[in-house]
This record gives sequence, structure tokens and C-alpha cells, in this order.
Amino acid sequence: MEKTKLVAFTFDDGPVAYAEDSTAMRILKTYEKYGQTATFFYVGQKINEESAPEMKFAQSIGCEAGNHTFTHCFLTEKTVEEIKEELGKTAEAEEKVLGVAPKLMRLPYLAANETVTATVEYPMINCSVDSKDWAGVTTEEIIKRIMDADAAGELENAVVLMHEQYATTAAAVEYLLPTLIEKGYRFVTVSELAKQNGIELEAHKIYGRLQ
Ligand SMILES: [Zn+2]
Repeated sequence: MEKTKLVAFTFDDGPVAYAEDSTAMRILKTYEKYGQTATFFYVGQKINEESAPEMKFAQSIGCEAGNHTFTHCFLTEKTVEEIKEELGKTAEAEEKVLGVAPKLMRLPYLAANETVTATVEYPMINCSVDSKDWAGVTTEEIIKRIMDADAAGELENAVVLMHEQYATTAAAVEYLLPTLIEKGYRFVTVSELAKQNGIELEAHKIYGRLQ
């Protein structure tokens, strides 16, 4: 038995829907089936009565909720006040659904400048492996990108960028979880990965690989 390798998959741009066949629920049911966890960065304006149960389900299986702004805008084009509003409204909406406020955030388009980093009162979680699922690629291409990262020794302790609204991503996750568990991986939240590696995540800082 190889030693356990940790990896944090992250899913942006939800919540999408609680419907049984939604891409988000396919992803979450896969995590539930294998007893693994991930981090979901939610967009505040997508949180409503229909999508809230998806967030609650994610929380019930140990997944982590993060802040991905309210309108999924380029924060680099916003004033300090607007940045605070984008994050504050989302935190409020998440806390209303989950009972806890998010502790991490992901920058839309991973876009930052000095005003953004000075204003954002969260650790900003970038990524070290980009699945490119946002670029209209196939399930096979997503899988290949992740397996290539594993072969290159870059998947252990990686923060992997994915999105919860694509069927290609859901299908890739259904393949990747059992395959990578077999190879000695454990899927954890970003906070858990940082904790396991003795990293204290700090506000105003941008993070990639957590090692
Ligand atoms: Zn996004």
C-alpha cells in the first residue's frame, strides 16, 4: 500500500440545482459514494430556494463552501467598496443557507491586482492544476489532464480547478475518484489540505499548490 496522497478538487460557479440529474448532484453523489470531500466556490446571485438544498447536501457530506463573489465579475475593475459588497453579499447568502460564513474565496477569472489583494479579507485560493473543463473540452481531455498531472508528480497536494455546471466534469469525476483512490489518493477540502500540511491560510494572500 502506497502512502496516502492528498489532493483538493475545487468546483466553481455553482450552486446550480438540487435536481437528481443536475451536474452538481452527480458530482456530490460521487463524493458521497466514495466518502470523499471537496470545496465549492459559490456565486452569491445563484443562491436561491432551488439551489440552496444542493449546498446543504454538500455541507452534509463534509464539503466546504467558499466565496466566488456575488456577480462573478472581474474584481480588478471594481472599487474597494464594490469589492467588499461582492464578497459581503455572498457571505451573507451562504451563511443564511449553511449557518456558517465562508472562510476562503476564489477570484473570478483568477484576476487580481493590488487593490483586490489589499481589500479581500480572505485567503484567495488559486489553483495549481487547471482541468480546463471551462474551455469546452471533452470528458476524456479532463481526465487526461488530471492523470498527466499525477504522472508528473504534480497532483499530490494540488488544488485542482473544476466547475460544477458541466456534464463533462461530472463524468470525469465519476471516473477520477475511484481511479485515484486506487492509486492512494484521498480527496479533501482546501482547508483540510492546508491543515494537513501545516499551512495557515491568511487573508490577502493568493495560494496555489498547498505544500
Ligand atoms: Zn468562476
